[in-house]
Amino acid sequence: MQNIDQIYIDGAFVTPHGTESFELVNPSTEQVIGRVRLADERDARDAIAAARRAFPAFSRTTKAERVEMLMRMHAAVVAREDTLFEAIVEEYGAPVSRGRWMASHASDVLLQTAQTLEHYEFVRCAGSAEVVMQPLGVAGLITPWNSNAGFICGKLAAALAAGCTAVIKPSEMSAIQTRVITEALHEAELPAGVFNIVTGRGETVGAEISSHSDIAKISFTGSTAVGKTILRTAAETLKRVTLELGGKSPMVVLDDANFDEAVPLALQAGFMNSGQACIAGARILVPQARLKEFEEKIVAAVAGIQSGNPRDPHTSIGPMVSQKQWERVQRYIRIGIDEGARLIAGGEGRPDGVDAGWFVRPTVFSDVRNDMTIAREEIFGPVLSIIAYRDEEDAIAIANDTPYGLQAYVASSSAGRANAVASRLEAGRVLVNTLAHEPAAPFGGFKQSGIGREYGTFGIEAFLEPKSLLGTV
Ligand code: NAD
Repeated sequence: MQNIDQIYIDGAFVTPHGTESFELVNPSTEQVIGRVRLADERDARDAIAAARRAFPAFSRTTKAERVEMLMRMHAAVVAREDTLFEAIVEEYGAPVSRGRWMASHASDVLLQTAQTLEHYEFVRCAGSAEVVMQPLGVAGLITPWNSNAGFICGKLAAALAAGCTAVIKPSEMSAIQTRVITEALHEAELPAGVFNIVTGRGETVGAEISSHSDIAKISFTGSTAVGKTILRTAAETLKRVTLELGGKSPMVVLDDANFDEAVPLALQAGFMNSGQACIAGARILVPQARLKEFEEKIVAAVAGIQSGNPRDPHTSIGPMVSQKQWERVQRYIRIGIDEGARLIAGGEGRPDGVDAGWFVRPTVFSDVRNDMTIAREEIFGPVLSIIAYRDEEDAIAIANDTPYGLQAYVASSSAGRANAVASRLEAGRVLVNTLAHEPAAPFGGFKQSGIGREYGTFGIEAFLEPKSLLGTV
């Protein structure tokens, strides 16, 4: 049992003013594995005050000093990688291969940001003016549970690179992972108050951060519904906002695609992070003329996909993070059946032979129409929809017929055709025949998938404001 009863404010571990105790549950076993004492609004205000005090000196540090700090943070998180991995598998239920990636991703983003910062020019010219990129102030960083350490480190790295100080509010469901990261970052010995970590509820701590007049910038990753609430609240003080929200990403399989490659690609894109991924390729668009062939191959492939114990190396889909998330996914499977989609793999309930844990059967529907609920709403679980299209124009129209626009995928044997389709897709990122991640490239959504971009220079600039100086020598 882990008992987490401290938050991190002004360079020290302190007991929160908040007294609510929240149970931490292993989603693979449903066993209570710990408790976290949650911060409240007053703790959030204390953290904001500490970050505000730290800002004047920190904002004047040199680029080289901040690169050095990010490198120290990187080394400290690398040193905790095994502990973080254990926490990810225990508390979140990521399958081991995914868990390993998530544990190293947390330190990678610190290193990548340090490298980007090294080459970033804070001063440039525009006509006769000198333009100085100036840090915004105190940043509020609000993160979800589906990649806790990666989001904390990624947002914090970009904020600090820009010269902002930060108050981080991670998901309350990730408190064990957050503690590992906090202990690591503490060892990097940054000036007190530069970053503060207050684990608490969204409606209290998150709302305080979104409304507080001393917060200049919010960077939020989470659901579209909460993103809209934050945007409304932040409008009162005209905070700058970066919102990384939900998605319903299309995987466009062109009629020339090699299905022996496209089917595994579609399944990896759809089932990544156990389906709990904002970038999951949840709508698979397949040419009507080759639908039967695609269905046969995907059914055969899904039969070999294991949803179960995340510590078993054969597992590629772990449990849903919580009972609530499991019930949400079950509800969508039921809706898919009720609305007339044809189940070709998986279905309701737990996988055969599994009687505990929030496990879902890897599920694929076919005969899905793009106006069905399962094609429009984000499920956030391993449930995929195959939608047949007539021709390329139809495929592009279906792909773009969604309120979201985070990511899209194209599978084709022809680079020219794939690129032509990719250029017409409304998404912040389009991946052609690949699932590769490029940390230097901007990441973020069109339409209701968000506002702004993270990663690379775009990510650092999200925490900066240009200031034009004229008449200077
Ligand atoms: P969520 O929106 O419920 O919560 C995200 C964070 O916001 C949590 O820390 C939560 O406590 C906080 N929060 C909740 N209410 C708040 C409020 N009123 N004010 C301020 N903060 C508040 O999302 P979740 O269930 O934790 O995560 C799943 C969602 O996140 C999915 O919809 C998914 O698409 C999205 N997501 C998006 C990305 C991306 O990069 N676009 C990445 C991962 C997850």
